[in-house]
Amino acid sequence: MNDLYKKQVSNALVSWFEEEKRDLPWRKTKNPYKIWVSEVMLQQTKVDTVIPYYERFITKYPSLESLANANEDELLKEWEGLGYYSRARNLQAGVKEVMEDYNGVVPSTRKEISKLKGVGPYTAGAVLSIAYSVPEHAVDGNVMRVLSRLLLIKEDIAKPKTKKIFEEAVMKLIDEKNPSAFNQGLMELGAVICTPTKPKCLLCPVREYCTAFFEGMQEELPIKTINKKTKIHKMKATVIESEDGRILLEKRPTKGLLANMWQFPMVELPTPNHTVEEIIEHDYQMSIVKGKEILTFKHIFSHLIWEMESYEAKLINKIDIPANCNWFTREEIENQPMPVPVLKIWNAWKERN
Ligand code: SF4
Repeated sequence: MNDLYKKQVSNALVSWFEEEKRDLPWRKTKNPYKIWVSEVMLQQTKVDTVIPYYERFITKYPSLESLANANEDELLKEWEGLGYYSRARNLQAGVKEVMEDYNGVVPSTRKEISKLKGVGPYTAGAVLSIAYSVPEHAVDGNVMRVLSRLLLIKEDIAKPKTKKIFEEAVMKLIDEKNPSAFNQGLMELGAVICTPTKPKCLLCPVREYCTAFFEGMQEELPIKTINKKTKIHKMKATVIESEDGRILLEKRPTKGLLANMWQFPMVELPTPNHTVEEIIEHDYQMSIVKGKEILTFKHIFSHLIWEMESYEAKLINKIDIPANCNWFTREEIENQPMPVPVLKIWNAWKERN
């Protein structure tokens, strides 16, 4: 890559970004905390979905201090529907570290910011370049797609070690005077022009410099091998209503998938030798009578799938519920953080009750 090529590509990208960038709420600020929040929310989530969440979140937690002191249940409630809830917990943990170890100022070097909980190489580079104008790479799947086409990089982007090649490519191309617009330009190009299928090459600001376009290979890149087989879990959730109209929820464990979120009692199928009612009687210390089916659907996480069945049930008799369970009124349930598949069941149950 010679200097002229670097200059032409970065000039074309930066000018295009300055003129065409979408008007997004986190683009109106240089506040590192707000940029950090937006970048964490944008991981694995579409821009249109993130906008209302970001605006509500920043209104509720306008500063590092307010997020550091937030109640975890309320925080998860704000995040509800965005998925990947460990992002919210890690964000809060990282913010607490900034308050305690860095005097409330988000660090401005890769070495320091990367030590914060939940801040990976991408988030570090995005916050540094956008908030502090530090020329640092911020490479995610979008950026790898754009660069693999632009520079005809044929390495498998599913392999973790490949990322380094792209990070080095960004460091060679980056506009040192405007790293914020350069990095955001790459992200924007991947989102609106150099899309996974049918890239809009005729509208592309860097088409003249794109090797894949000249080779007619834009649809073949990036090279990405398929992930390992996704695990399928068959789950059965039961919405148990007591005589006084309260509903039983249980809190998930403090670690692992959907940690600390609330759900209806859930049993993994198959349950050889026992019915779900027997398991509920044993595990939740209560007798129920099973009612109608509520909803059957699939919920896809990044590495596993829940095939969900759900039923309504009435409580007949209870002894003592486990410590991680509680009875809630309908109104109280609305304030508990629940993951998307549980919310789906809850909304379907409410419609008919
Ligand atoms: Fe992507 Fe096409 Fe632009 Fe190349 S010319 S960067 S393939 S949109």
